[in-house]
Amino acid sequence: MPELPEVEVTKRGVEQVLLNHTIVDVFIGEKKLRQPLSPRLRELVGAKVTRLERRGKYIVIFTTHGSLIIHLGMTGHLSIVPSATERVLHDHFELMLDSGTSVRYHDARRFGLVVYIEPDADPYQYPALAVLGPEPLKPDFTGEVLYAALQKRNSSIKQALMNSAVVVGVGNIYACESLFLTGINPERSCRSLSLEEVTTLVANIKELLTSSIASGGTTIRDFEGADGKLGYFVQNLKVYGHAGEPCSVCGTPIKRIVQGNRSTFFCPKCQK
Ligand SMILES: [Zn+2]
Repeated sequence: MPELPEVEVTKRGVEQVLLNHTIVDVFIGEKKLRQPLSPRLRELVGAKVTRLERRGKYIVIFTTHGSLIIHLGMTGHLSIVPSATERVLHDHFELMLDSGTSVRYHDARRFGLVVYIEPDADPYQYPALAVLGPEPLKPDFTGEVLYAALQKRNSSIKQALMNSAVVVGVGNIYACESLFLTGINPERSCRSLSLEEVTTLVANIKELLTSSIASGGTTIRDFEGADGKLGYFVQNLKVYGHAGEPCSVCGTPIKRIVQGNRSTFFCPKCQK
């Protein structure tokens, strides 16, 4: 599943070809994604792209004739291709630009989302976006903010980090890795963490996401950056996917447990 860094890398990649360009045609596939693709997406024909933003794992594309919300789901990715390139199975949506280049949405499992938002509507009021918690890389996501949010939770710290009402886009990989870096056992209750621990955790989350973005994201199955290059951050993962292997700090075998139907990887010795 593409995580926040992959989405940010994708956004930056497609931004280079979309920004200030006019959409000359739109391809809308017949298969439905998480929702059917609206025929109103055709209203983007003739529109100029004015701005791109990322909110959690959503990419928001602003144009002169409304905006577009894209979520990559489990297997979605956006690629940049010459518009004349023949489409293949699972190509579901495409923006064709005045430059002769296209941004194409490909998604084998079709859990993604492509939504058209009318010109006078605010895409951030779209239900899936309106409920999102703080952005982890914004300065207003601080130790104090996360600490206050954790006091209202009964879950484990690992599950809270993956709850998009608490913080968006941390995801399984970065939840496991940031807890390892901070030395916090993933099964601890939210309210057992001190403000000092939470402040260090927040700093580690920001550091991990920033370096993952800088190295092009994590390589996960069929994720490809918008230009087709694979991310290299997977080489930096210390616990995620390393069950049974020795901890890089103390040599204790990394343990895998299941929390909320998701695998958690941690070092039982380093993480208290
Ligand atoms: Zn260890």
